[in-house]
Amino acid sequence: SGKWARALSILTEFEEKCGTPSSKLKQVADAMTVEMHAGLASEGGSKLKMIISYVDNLPTGDEKGLFYALDLGGTNFRVLRVHLGGKESRVVKQEFEEVSIPPHLMTGSSDELFDCIASALAKFVATESDSQHVSPGRQRELGFTFSFPVRQTSISSGTLIKWTKGFAVEDTVGQDVVGELTKAIERAGLDMRVAALVNDTVGTLAGGRYNNPDVAAAVILGTGTNAAYVERAHAIPKWHGLLPKSGEMVINMEWGNFRSSHLPLTEYDQALDAGSLNPGEQIFEKMISGMYLGEIVRRVLCKMAEEAAIFGDAVPPKLKIPFILRTPHTSAMHHDTSPDLKVVATKLKDILEISNTSLKLRKLIVEVCDIVATRGARLSAAGIVGILKKLGRDTVKDGEKQKSAVALDGGLYEHYTKFRTCMENTLWELLGEEASENIAVEHSMDGSGIGAALLAASHSQYI
Ligand code: ADP
Ligand code: MG
Repeated sequence: SGKWARALSILTEFEEKCGTPSSKLKQVADAMTVEMHAGLASEGGSKLKMIISYVDNLPTGDEKGLFYALDLGGTNFRVLRVHLGGKESRVVKQEFEEVSIPPHLMTGSSDELFDCIASALAKFVATESDSQHVSPGRQRELGFTFSFPVRQTSISSGTLIKWTKGFAVEDTVGQDVVGELTKAIERAGLDMRVAALVNDTVGTLAGGRYNNPDVAAAVILGTGTNAAYVERAHAIPKWHGLLPKSGEMVINMEWGNFRSSHLPLTEYDQALDAGSLNPGEQIFEKMISGMYLGEIVRRVLCKMAEEAAIFGDAVPPKLKIPFILRTPHTSAMHHDTSPDLKVVATKLKDILEISNTSLKLRKLIVEVCDIVATRGARLSAAGIVGILKKLGRDTVKDGEKQKSAVALDGGLYEHYTKFRTCMENTLWELLGEEASENIAVEHSMDGSGIGAALLAASHSQYI
């Protein structure tokens, strides 16, 4: 019928606009490299903030003692207790607890948000066993993983530049987030010092390096997306401090805010951005990360419902609700291997209250999920190639065999298999066979939490 043809034409047009051939991805990678240079050259020189992390030494394996970490991401926060045993014993024991952030606290006051975090932390500390106490007279020390853009002022302080990923706690912006946390820790009656403030990418880099000395960069694909890497200190023109002994400095790129005319933006992306809490910002993140993939799918389905009546004459009311369709839902539909696409039918019914869909229509929906995930996965691979280019590790020079590894983490990477596979395959496609042999990607499980504990250990007040 004419309606089905209209649906197909919306699909085809969307697919074309989302196209990411190698040639385009190479332009994206090049643009990423260019922006990295610009962001390192001067403060405000690029959409990429290229934040100096003050981490100039990554874990060696010698770290020892009992340390805490707190990981505030986008959806949950986690508290960790890590017992580090030094070179021989490594991580002797790790325990964690995950707490979901009550949605009203994501847009409430700073005190309420940090009080909630500190009280969860206090409860967790109370579960220390007798053998786990820090030495007498010592304060407990914490690595704070905070996955939002922070203007770092030292290893243990930094002011919040802006919220992302659906947070809008206005009175935290411009404040030192360690100060906010420390005050809440005191209000909770806990004796604990924040020894290191790190971005989740920096934590993942530290955790990755602890396990593999080849790790040179870390990428998070979760609710949001970001990357960090190890830069040579003398290649950071905007750094006017003393050159660190190591000669290195970890840079938190804040690549979610990357933007380039080479990005395949569609009308759906533009509408999503315009209706978001942070219009005009985090454009790369909005095309790639877990917070947004499901929402892009929803917007395409909405258009098909409006203009091609794919769900009947009326647009299903639930389908009109922003963010009702989450990435885990579209991921489940995308991975549906049943011949009659049972999972797709179930998700449509449970989430959108849509029933009686034809198999043909369910296939069309899977196709939309595939287009959105493929574009996101391929763009993230291009971003990684941009970093490798900046490091001069995207090609093999004179048969040189320098190995590089990239540590990856985040719920999207961890759970969305098709996304992960496509991202990795695209990386090999862009690098070519020879260079690919020297590059490894590895899942750095819980890297951001353990990494923060490791960095708390190396920045302890007692060493
Ligand atoms: P954060 O980024 O908030 O620190 P995570 O790294 O745990 O948290 O990532 C959580 C995000 O991962 C969710 O917001 C969701 O978008 C994505 N995610 C979780 N599970 C799945 C899944 N099964 N399939 C696809 N995406 C998932
Ligand atoms: Mg996280």
